[in-house]
Amino acid sequence: MTSKSTSVTESIVWSQDKPEPAKRDVAQAMLRGAIGHCPHCNKGKLFTKYLKVTPQCSECHEDYTPNRSDDLPAYLVLLIVGHIVVGGMMSVEANYDWPTQWHSIVWPVLCTVLTLVLLPPVKGAVVALQWALRMHGFSNQPDGDELPALRPAPHHDA
Ligand SMILES: [Zn+2]
Repeated sequence: MTSKSTSVTESIVWSQDKPEPAKRDVAQAMLRGAIGHCPHCNKGKLFTKYLKVTPQCSECHEDYTPNRSDDLPAYLVLLIVGHIVVGGMMSVEANYDWPTQWHSIVWPVLCTVLTLVLLPPVKGAVVALQWALRMHGFSNQPDGDELPALRPAPHHDA
């Protein structure tokens, strides 16, 4: 007969369970992003160049490297500009008798100007929307003093 020696040790299992992160104001963040401000603090700038998103806010140090706006701002601008220009062309065609040369100058210039003017605010709003909804890489970022907490997992006795 053999004797068994067992040692009972209390082990702590750490888990990454943490409380639900605080909700962010989506509309406020998108407005701040649309005017080129940091969606978090509204003090720092969101862009370093025309459409280049800053890697980190100069004021609150919010990390913007996870942004993945990709082609969405361009598609949205295309949608907006298309509706304005096509509606304008149809309205002018129906109500006025413009010579063809005017059409060939006014509409391409209007398309170009509207596109260049609308791209930064639309991209800023899209980046801010991703930040506010904690999409992509923004999902794991804590807000301010809200640090990710490690705490013991619930212990279940069999
Ligand atoms: Zn900021």
